[in-house]
Amino acid sequence: MLKPLESILIAILLGGLPANAQSVVCPDPRFVILSDDGTPAHRVCRIAQEAAERLAACNVPLSDTRRIRIELMPEMLEACLGLYHCGKDLIQIPTPDTMQSMRAADSSLSHVPPEPFFRGILTHELAHAAFDAQPCPFESCITASEYIAYTMQIMSLPAADIATFESGLKMHKKISRDALNPITLYMNPDIFLSLAWIHLHQRSDPCAYIGDVMQGRIRMDYERH
Ligand SMILES: [Zn+2]
Repeated sequence: MLKPLESILIAILLGGLPANAQSVVCPDPRFVILSDDGTPAHRVCRIAQEAAERLAACNVPLSDTRRIRIELMPEMLEACLGLYHCGKDLIQIPTPDTMQSMRAADSSLSHVPPEPFFRGILTHELAHAAFDAQPCPFESCITASEYIAYTMQIMSLPAADIATFESGLKMHKKISRDALNPITLYMNPDIFLSLAWIHLHQRSDPCAYIGDVMQGRIRMDYERH
């Protein structure tokens, strides 16, 4: 257990957080928000709790015994919009304003307004946190983890934004499970996200399928030699 001051110092060492960062335990005690005074922690608490409820409803539960620290970063050290640190119950996510400034103008989700986009990214990282608690029999289960994270991110969006996203996709194109792989993921996450969503859309019961991937009944990763 870290004392608040120690955890703040560690956060500063990790980069980006100002010295006056405060940690707030949310009403849902699974979440602790670390932010400077400018970003209302209670708002992020509410978004995290609602996201976790929606994840649980789609078979991506975050156990009651977890305590996830969510650090709101005025700037990110890496160019990514969110980071879950495996095994550490730590999420780093840009503040809503910083996130807005980092968004690509030409992504398949560029039409999504700031608030649902932020909620989507937090949902993505919370899905990683939930999946992290599941055993992986291989060196890495990155494809399954990102499949769940990206599809849950899309599912968290308002229906109209999902419809706009889908209007740019060939929703009936046959997607094999092999098309979802780490190479696509690293080369072009936007393509991976689109393929994952089309693939999930074609399952007869998407949340049952997500549950199977969560539980390892369906594997998306392979032993690498
Ligand atoms: Zn991810």
